[in-house]
Amino acid sequence: MTRPFPRGAVIDNGRLTGIGGVDVRSLASEFGTPLYVVDEAELVGRMREYRGAFGEGATVAYASKALCVTGVLQLAAAEGLSVDVASRGELYTAQRASFPMERVIFHGNNKAPAELRDAVDLGVGRVVVDSLTELERLTSLARDAGREVDVLVRITPGVNADTHTHIATGHDEAKFGLSLAAGLAHTAIDQVLKTDGLRLAGLHSHVGSQLLTSAAFEAVVRTLIVLLGDIHRRHGVWLEELNVGGGLAIAYTPYDPEPSITQYAAALLDSVDQEAKANGVPAPRITVEPGRSIAGPAGITLYTVGTVKDVPGVVSFAAVDGGMSDNVRPSLYGARYEVVPAGAPSPPRDARPFDVVGKHCESGDVIAAGVWLPADLREGDLLAVAATGAYGYSMASNYNRLARPAMVLVGDGHARLLVTRETTEDLVAHDVVL
Ligand SMILES: *Cc1c(COP(=O)(O)O)cnc(C)c1O
Repeated sequence: MTRPFPRGAVIDNGRLTGIGGVDVRSLASEFGTPLYVVDEAELVGRMREYRGAFGEGATVAYASKALCVTGVLQLAAAEGLSVDVASRGELYTAQRASFPMERVIFHGNNKAPAELRDAVDLGVGRVVVDSLTELERLTSLARDAGREVDVLVRITPGVNADTHTHIATGHDEAKFGLSLAAGLAHTAIDQVLKTDGLRLAGLHSHVGSQLLTSAAFEAVVRTLIVLLGDIHRRHGVWLEELNVGGGLAIAYTPYDPEPSITQYAAALLDSVDQEAKANGVPAPRITVEPGRSIAGPAGITLYTVGTVKDVPGVVSFAAVDGGMSDNVRPSLYGARYEVVPAGAPSPPRDARPFDVVGKHCESGDVIAAGVWLPADLREGDLLAVAATGAYGYSMASNYNRLARPAMVLVGDGHARLLVTRETTEDLVAHDVVL
């Protein structure tokens, strides 16, 4: 099987022929394309690997922003995960999925007063405080509601994660959290500790996404554990919980390393133990918040080729029926993807390179450049893109007024809709006719 397709994918002579026990041609004909396809075995397998590797002594919170749809949150809830939300919409999705509110962690660098009120009224398990302004709002909401709110203070640890600048979040110039170096972190911690109605459960930090090495994770653990010691010296309390965020990378192409969840967990728990011992700090309970590394490898996108355009001696384009509206990552971050032909099994065919592009009115609307595809590729052929489960649908738009694709969950030979395809009517539903 060609990495990085999900475990339920059947790859035959470099072609994707089936997934989750369902023929790709029947998926395309029944649900249309573009189509997001989520392999249930891969998705649930990753949730279980996280839970197993971290054990009962730690909490695994699925970062819903990676792929926030009701059915996926239902699966996460059933697998015993907690969930991160960062808006009213994500919180509402968790409610619709009947997620137990005590397993919801509410994030955001600019939570609206109404969002904070919902979080307090619904009794979410943790509110992650990201600013001093928010702390004031939360204090009065807790007072009005007459209930104690469990909070984590989000620390900006001054760690420069080695990743794309748009998804690095732990350096002092980042918009997230309360800077340790600038003293904001201590101000917030002091404030929470002396406020009735707020209970400081612990600290949070998330330094970035698509992290390939353990250096940033270890630096965060060290910084937070040293901080636990400082807090004990200043206030005489041991905080019980460290939430170290998400960020484990995934393989998008066969050339990418494929980080192991199990190894990441072992290394992280080990560094917690070592730092706790070295600093004389009682080992805290750990929470991790993986998003991409749960949803990403479980999803693929199926497209239909519409136009093949050969510019002699220059380039050949294979234009598909979606593009940057269903996967913005190539144009946003220069992200690379693996694309393979899909459809009926076929003997090996001659291949030539194509730029696989979308149908939007932008030259940057590229899915992947220089992809080797069958030389006789033509209109109506199917293509499959790997590892689109995270930050594909969740960042999708209606650019050029394209309807957002449907999403199906496949497993054991069945396909179930997770999201229906938008209709043209949906696209104008909020337009007001003058
Ligand atoms: C985005 C985010 C995550 C998840 O990041 P991944 O790279 O998808 O694992 C976790 N925690 C917080 C606070 C985030 O903002």
